[in-house]
Parts: sequence; C-alpha cells; structure tokens
Amino acid sequence: MRTIIRGARVLTMDGSGTDLSSATVTIENDTIVAVEAGTAGGPHDSPHPTAGGAGPGVREAGVREIDGTGHLLMPGLVNGHFHSSANHLKGAFDSLPLEIFMLFETPADGARDDTRSAYVSTLLGAVEMLKSGVTSVLDDAFFVPAPSPAAIDAIMQAYADSGIRATVALDQPNVPEIDKLPFLENLLPPDLLARARQPAGMDAAGLLECYRHLLERWHGTAGGRLRAAVSCSAPQRVTPDYFSELDALSRRLHLPFFIHVLETKLQRVLGEEKFRRSLVRYVKDLGLLSDRMNIIHAIWVDDEDMDLIADSGAVVAHNPISNLRLGSGVMPFRELRDRGVPICLGSDEAITDDSINMWNVAKVTGLVHNLNGGDYQRWPTATEVLRCLIHGGAEALRLPQRIGEITVGHQADLILVDLDTLPFTPLNDLERQLVYCEQGSSVRMTMVAGRIVYDNGVVLGIDERALRAEARDLHARRSAAVEAEAGGAARWLPYYRDMYMKAAARDVGLQRWIGNPR
Ligand SMILES: [Zn+2]
Repeated sequence: MRTIIRGARVLTMDGSGTDLSSATVTIENDTIVAVEAGTAGGPHDSPHPTAGGAGPGVREAGVREIDGTGHLLMPGLVNGHFHSSANHLKGAFDSLPLEIFMLFETPADGARDDTRSAYVSTLLGAVEMLKSGVTSVLDDAFFVPAPSPAAIDAIMQAYADSGIRATVALDQPNVPEIDKLPFLENLLPPDLLARARQPAGMDAAGLLECYRHLLERWHGTAGGRLRAAVSCSAPQRVTPDYFSELDALSRRLHLPFFIHVLETKLQRVLGEEKFRRSLVRYVKDLGLLSDRMNIIHAIWVDDEDMDLIADSGAVVAHNPISNLRLGSGVMPFRELRDRGVPICLGSDEAITDDSINMWNVAKVTGLVHNLNGGDYQRWPTATEVLRCLIHGGAEALRLPQRIGEITVGHQADLILVDLDTLPFTPLNDLERQLVYCEQGSSVRMTMVAGRIVYDNGVVLGIDERALRAEARDLHARRSAAVEAEAGGAARWLPYYRDMYMKAAARDVGLQRWIGNPR
C-alpha cells in the first residue's frame, strides 16, 4: 500500500529541526519513502475527503491520498511511562504520597483481575491515547496478585486490536512487602507484621515463565508493532538474583528494562536504611546499571547518582503530572540534561495523571522546571520539551525500526493536527503552541506503521460507545468488592503514615520539594 499525504505543513523533527511550510510525504506500507517540499506529484485535493478535510481518499488501486492542507503533519507522540493496570481508576483518590496511595491502589486494581476487564480497560487507555495523537506506549503492566498467561494475552490482544505501538513489561515484585519499605519492622503490630512478611504473589521462576509466554506469544507480532520489555518494578522490590535474570533477558534480546528509581524521599531513606547507599549506587554496584534501562522518575537523585546515570547511557522517564499528584518532588531536569541524559516523558498511570494525555505532560514539563531557580536561561524551551516527548520516547523504546522523524526510512508513525483550531489561532510559534496550547483536540488523524488507526473522531475498528458502556458495567459490578478491600487497607494506614512522616522528616542532604517543606 502506498500513501501520499499532500499539502500539509511538515514538522520533520529531524536533526536540523526542518519545518516545511508545505510538503508531500510518501509512505510505502509502514515506511516513509519520500519527503518533498511543496506539493510535487499531484494536486492538493483528495477526491473523497472526509469531514474536516484530512481524511483519506483512494485515487488508484493500492494508492491512498490524503489532503493535508491546513494541517500539520508531525511524528506521533510517545508515552514513555505508563501502567495500563490502573486505566479504570482515574480520579479514584485524593492526592496522596506514593507509599500511602499504593496501600489503596493495589486492592482497587483487583477490580481488573479477570481477563475481560483487563482487555477492556487496556483498550480504553489505548483509545484515549490514539485520539490525542499518541502512537507508541511503554506499558509497565502490573498484576494483582500475580500475572498469568491469560491476563498477559488480554492486555496484548487489546493493544493488537487498538492499532497502537506498544512495548509491554511485567512490573512484578518478588520480595515480601516488608523488604520494600523502611521502619515497618518497628512500627507494625504482630499480625500485620506477619502479613507483611508473607512471600510475594509469585516467585522468580513463575515470573520468568510469564516472561517466556509474553516473548513467545507476542514479541515482534502485529508487524513488529507489539514488543516485550522487562521490568523489575524497582530495585528494592526484587531479589538480586531475579534482577540479574531480568538483566540477562534484556541484554540477550535488546529489550528495554523498566526500573522505578528514587521516585520519593522515602525511597532515598530506604536506600540509606537497607543498603547504606543510594538506590542508583546499589544498582551500579550490582553491575546492572545499563543503557537498556528506562529509569523512571529519578527525582531524589544526588550528583553522584546523576553522573552514574549519565555514564550508563540510560534514558530517564519523566512523569511531572504524576509527580505533582503524588507530591513526589521535582526531578532535576536541567542537571540531568546538562549531563547529556536522554529524557522521555510519561503520563504514568491513569490514577496519578487522571488523563492519559501527553500534551498535558509536555506542558507541565515546560512549566514546572521554571521553579528550579531564577536563571531563566536554564528553563526548558518548547523545542527541548518536544524533543524529549518524541525523540526521548523513541530512544526509550529501543526499536529495531526508526521512529520519531519524518525522514526517509523512518516508520510512518504520524499525526495530522488541524491548524484551524483555537490552540493555533493566530499562529505565533508552532512549537510553543504545540507545547503550551494544544491539548489533543486538534488531532484529526493518527497513523501507526503506515496504517490509519484514528480518523476524525473514530478509532477504526473500535465501537467506542460500546467499549465505554462495558467498562462502566464491569467496574460497577466490582465496586463493592473494591470498597471492601479498601476498608482492609485502612487498617495499615496509621503505621504507613508514621513510616512516611519519619522518612519525610529526615535530612537526606538534598531537597526536591519546593517552598519550605515541613
Ligand atoms: Zn510507574
């Protein structure tokens, strides 16, 4: 199949930042084969434009023509960190710190423990992303209490059906709760302490068997659109042996390795208490810090941690809205960028962003770091934020194919953005208005690997109304069980609050909260 998109303004996102006022882009199957300034090769108009003018028409057999007049063609957005497991929980809680929030989130996630719920909620998130121009997602899926081949199949089938490009890992601890957190040994009453010492839901052998299923059944399927990654969740949540096994898997198959590191001050305190060093240094000392890693959050990192990350070649996944929602702190963006660390952007889960909207994430990235100091020349620019959003995401994906530019040889992961909309009226500066004005409502078409998956309000092949109705129904049927579980979690709350406040009060030699925190 050949696709020709004519007459659009084209932000190529190539190394020179080429911005063509009008161009013709030709795609053969899934790959961009020509980018020509002007509208060479034919007239602007499509014989069968859909409403809005951006839809496809077919001029001759095997050739699809798209009129891009009045639109911007740019690479699709990448959601560099996501957990599909909480797609059904947006707006479920008031803002809480991570460690308290997770007490309530984990039982609530049990609402998705059957495979149909997992399929429906994963598809719901994919639809939300495609409609706002996200073409790729890195999903660190977790399972309560443990993954199974059927649950993995449900998630991957949803991504297969949606048309989005998805790289999925199994975010699953294999140590007891007591090992993941500081101070609990001395805080919990005997019955809760016994429960906190119970083994994790699945041991390393079981988890590796689940990875075997994910790799054999799904890795590289759907024309290479679906891929596997590995995840240890976080270094304190796994045994060193399992951590090493995951690293070996990642190295052998060139898979991204997801790892949450120093998201919170409590995790910095845990590193001091349990390992007598920073968690970044701990991973380095295990010999596991590598350029395959997608280091998620990296907020409470010190100078040595940032040097180690820079030396490793790892990508950092920045989730500023989640970090604000959970009060985690502000990642040292400029300090990481000064060291040359690639940064991708993520929404994190739908319970900590509440929308799965990468335009919002880009905007907050462009704003929150202005509070890091008065030297305005060190604040992020719109161009820099866009590059994190698209190129950082492409780097984190570690795909065999190239994405993130409209240049010959790259995958056709593209979006058409209507410029005749309020966010772009009048048009002062394209990149700034993409970062600070657009919120996804101007996206008219989303193409993944050369296939149109979203066109003028409709995700193709998905009955969105029926999907939403089923999601509501499945969730309602489980809400009583979820509330009962949340009631059980409340029993732990006073002890977790004590743990959290004790960590919050400690001087760890650096500060990632703003103002005068107490
Ligand atoms: Zn996460």
